[in-house]
Amino acid sequence: MASDLTKIVASLRRSPVYVAPSLTSAVPEPRRLVAAVKAAPVPVFAVIVPLAAGGEFPDAEHLADAVHRRLRRDCVVLTLDEGSPNDISAQEYGVDRDAIQAAGAVNLDPALDSASLTDRLIRCVQLITSGRAHAEYEKQSNALDERIREPRRQDGRSGGHTAAYAVGGGSVAVAAVAALAVWRWRRTRVVRRRPRPVLTDARSAASLREHAEAELVRLGEALDDAQGDAGRLREALDAYSAAGKALDAARTVPDLAGVLVLIDMGHDASEAARGGRGPTPLCFFNPLHGDGPVSVRWRAVGGRERITVRACATCAKAVRARETPDVLRDGATPYYEVDPARSVWATTGYGQFRGDLVQRVLRGELRRR
Ligand SMILES: [Zn+2]
Repeated sequence: MASDLTKIVASLRRSPVYVAPSLTSAVPEPRRLVAAVKAAPVPVFAVIVPLAAGGEFPDAEHLADAVHRRLRRDCVVLTLDEGSPNDISAQEYGVDRDAIQAAGAVNLDPALDSASLTDRLIRCVQLITSGRAHAEYEKQSNALDERIREPRRQDGRSGGHTAAYAVGGGSVAVAAVAALAVWRWRRTRVVRRRPRPVLTDARSAASLREHAEAELVRLGEALDDAQGDAGRLREALDAYSAAGKALDAARTVPDLAGVLVLIDMGHDASEAARGGRGPTPLCFFNPLHGDGPVSVRWRAVGGRERITVRACATCAKAVRARETPDVLRDGATPYYEVDPARSVWATTGYGQFRGDLVQRVLRGELRRR
């Protein structure tokens, strides 16, 4: 099997870029990437191998940690992201070059949606080299924000996360095929990212409510003339109903964030009905941060197991530095630490832990005091 650690590390000692044989066609002209890596001011290693739950490398962090342990040197390790096989994941060991932001910026940049993995990795390395990774990540996040204000009629969908949920249970071979499929799909479509209702500067309950009311109306209008797969349209209408129900019951900022997440799910289902990409993850720590382009291993306070959640680059960086990210709080408590019996948002991680958030809300499992 190509994803053999000894083989990978031996190869990395000769050249800083390793591409598994099954993925070579996804990384054309790797020599250009090697040149970019060699120009970086810190050691950078790119390890492009399939990631799959149950495989030798279940996620980016396991792979990068294993490679770093064997290489025994300060470095940046770039890999694929287990949550979305065409996205890039970065881990830093003993260096601080904002590599996580660099990867997040590339993952968010719609101009790179149709670029090859080679070009996306080169862009990531260039951001690390130039010291502009943080600024570029901010720019891409803000650009998403701007696109909210565009008329919905102009919207397209990015291919960014098509296979986000296709890889989890599959074999390594399946993951490789999925990665290639996504890559090919992205190569053939130049698409734009859909503005996300959750993206708003509003943070007070009053201004969030105003934003949520407007977004609910927009979703309703979008669904009026929606077409496509009947099952998906049903899901979209369910999400719309759930959002309306949640809005009626909403009292707090976490409740209103939940309304916006449900509206986002409605748009996702509506786009999927038209054959667009499936649901795309939001930042687990605070869905109001918008896209969660980075997978990060995280353990809840008092929890035994570390789980993988999707997060914005800023939160992901904080978690990896063992710091507390800017979490959405319910009063003084992180929303996910609220007694699950009292909060459907805590129970489901705003839908990241469980796929039945809409059904739970429709069943009336909203906050019970
Ligand atoms: Zn975040």
